[in-house]
Amino acid sequence: MSKDLVIGIIGGTGLTRMDNLAVTEELTVSTPFGPPSDAILKAKIWGREVFFLPRHGRGHRIPPHRINYRANVFALKSLGVEIILSVSAVGSMRESIVPGQLVFPDQFLDRTKQRPGTFFDEGLVAHVPFADPLCPHLRAKLTKAAERLSIPHHTGGTYVCIEGPQFSTRAESLFYRSLGVEVIGMTNATEARLAREAECCYATIALATDYDCWHTSEASVSVEAVMRLFAENVEKAKSIISEVVKDLGPYDCPCRSALANTITTERDAIDPEVARRLAPLVGKYL
Ligand SMILES: [Zn+2]
Repeated sequence: MSKDLVIGIIGGTGLTRMDNLAVTEELTVSTPFGPPSDAILKAKIWGREVFFLPRHGRGHRIPPHRINYRANVFALKSLGVEIILSVSAVGSMRESIVPGQLVFPDQFLDRTKQRPGTFFDEGLVAHVPFADPLCPHLRAKLTKAAERLSIPHHTGGTYVCIEGPQFSTRAESLFYRSLGVEVIGMTNATEARLAREAECCYATIALATDYDCWHTSEASVSVEAVMRLFAENVEKAKSIISEVVKDLGPYDCPCRSALANTITTERDAIDPEVARRLAPLVGKYL
């Protein structure tokens, strides 16, 4: 029997802790990109090992535009993580996505402006495929879990990722709506890019907390509303994770060989120091 896939969980706003985790170790991981957002908790769910990282650091210290996404994903990869489940608070851009409901998006529209979004920015060029940025296999498992638990959810949809930390202007919000997006957030597109480069399956559990600012009869998004809605509904995200972890057998996925045949730099032109630094990512291809 093939071995269990190693699961990482990145918790976002409102999920800096998972109370039901049986933590066995707290790991301080260093990476060539600097330190991740916090120590990574090695824990057990249903007796199975998982790694948990709070995206904004414990106590929510790091804003979306200053998160060291590269260090976070690289650290998980160095620990052997092959699958990343991301939990995030998002704004709903559709009347039909009611605050409190979960969305498992299948696309991103990346409107970030000033954050490093690749591991390959010097000495080694690679272009990974990103047409389908979220893992379809993992999304199907999230959907199945939500169905089994009778948790209201939407499968598919586009997540527009803005730079933040400010919420969007009303003009921006209406513009994104006109493009047909389903939810709005500040973190997941960057994370998904890096997860793809790290050959990890990546899926988003987005919890709608508000109607951003486009809705004419609802109050515009506020931190208070986001935190309250998230606190009221976070158990849904946690139970989905628990259900997926319980159920997740081995599966093959192209995400986990995404770098194959994508390195365009000639082998003898690759700086050995860069190759050494990126060995957890590219070692098997060089
Ligand atoms: Zn995958």
